[in-house]
Amino acid sequence: MSDTTGGPNLTQQRILTTAIPGPKSIELQARKQAAVAAGVGTTLPVYVVAAGGGVVLDVDGNSLIDFGSGIAVVTVGNSAPRVVEAVSEQVQAFTHTCFMITPYDGYVRVAEALNRLTPGDHEKRTALFNSGAEAVENAVKIARQHTKRQGVVVFDHAYHGRTNLTMAMTAKNMPYKSGFGPFAGEVYRAPLSYPYRDGLDGATAAARAINVIEKQVGVENLAAVVIEPIQGEGGFIVPAPGFIAALVQWCRDNSVVFVADEVQTGFARTGALFAMDHEDAVPDLIVTAKGIAGGLPLAAVTGRAEMMDAPHVGGLGGTYGGNPLACAAALAVIETIEADDLVGRARAIEATMMERLTALAERDARVGDLRGRGAMIAIELVDPATGAPDADLTKAVAAAAHQRGLIVLTCGTEGNVLRFLPPLAMPDHLLTEGLDVLDEVFANA
Ligand SMILES: *Cc1c(COP(=O)(O)O)cnc(C)c1O
Repeated sequence: MSDTTGGPNLTQQRILTTAIPGPKSIELQARKQAAVAAGVGTTLPVYVVAAGGGVVLDVDGNSLIDFGSGIAVVTVGNSAPRVVEAVSEQVQAFTHTCFMITPYDGYVRVAEALNRLTPGDHEKRTALFNSGAEAVENAVKIARQHTKRQGVVVFDHAYHGRTNLTMAMTAKNMPYKSGFGPFAGEVYRAPLSYPYRDGLDGATAAARAINVIEKQVGVENLAAVVIEPIQGEGGFIVPAPGFIAALVQWCRDNSVVFVADEVQTGFARTGALFAMDHEDAVPDLIVTAKGIAGGLPLAAVTGRAEMMDAPHVGGLGGTYGGNPLACAAALAVIETIEADDLVGRARAIEATMMERLTALAERDARVGDLRGRGAMIAIELVDPATGAPDADLTKAVAAAAHQRGLIVLTCGTEGNVLRFLPPLAMPDHLLTEGLDVLDEVFANA
């Protein structure tokens, strides 16, 4: 374990020195089993010593290609140079005061940056939190105060987190909800636009959802519609064109707060700064987290000033929300996205991935659908005869990729979606090699 310095200067190569996981990782996994609560699972139990660019280095000396980014978090790359420098400087100045007690300018600068960068040129305000789920909860609090209504509409396949309110908002029972109820009330589920499965155009899918909302919830009871513009855990489902815009318009016409949950799609991931930038519509509130701070825990709610300012003083906050280290990291992330044109980089990654995966889909009928935007691409695996979701194949393909030193993740309500989320700092040769590994895995599966 000699090289433990991460960042983009880490050798950008796939290197397999042992089976995956190697002996040292197996030993650590046994200690994990004995020390860590069983509910905290691990997808690929290789224990990490360094990461950067497009690789993750483990304790056994294996260097894996990273198509996961720690679930879309290290979009700018692991230990990205500007992040390391900004956090190192901040950690020596002060680590915490609590912004609600004695504030600091890093928080204000992050708020200013988010107000500037998020969709829409209306007057905005921002509040900072620690996790995506916490920020989603706060968006609901804000919408309820603003509208004086309580109902929250979410969609099929949605994922919004694991806290009590966000478990209610999340669709999938196993593993997120089973046995953890009772869940928060006043949460209602509407049908999504899922072009591969429902074949509906955006307007028709929106009319279907709106009909459910009007008949089963009632506008007069509804505070917020919360939606991921491209679903994350739910299967990287990209709604049909016009679906989101129609919902936004309906919300505006009915004084319902439209909340875009961009926790997974934000910060250049989809080849735009935010996924809502691809839609012809502006959200009232936007929730961000994951890609915001290069791995330091930070989340935000940004939105229309009159909505954000609805809760009384002291009604929003938390001990750690907008921690100074996380704020320093976020400012460095934003600087990196702008200086290195990472939006353009995400589009270039999309072009490469789409070309290779289109070819794969053409020769392998088990790839039922290929979808996504930017560096957020997925394939849905099916039984070619029936179109039925094939979770077993998906699991086998992911496991085989792991064996060959490629980190990939699965998702989808049916567990049959393989998703790719490379860091935007990944060099082209690793992106190509990762796609070669996938070809190999499919040829042998
Ligand atoms: C990950 C995720 C969340 C929850 O974020 P945490 O930081 O894990 O609480 C919420 N919404 C979406 C869309 C996510 O992808």
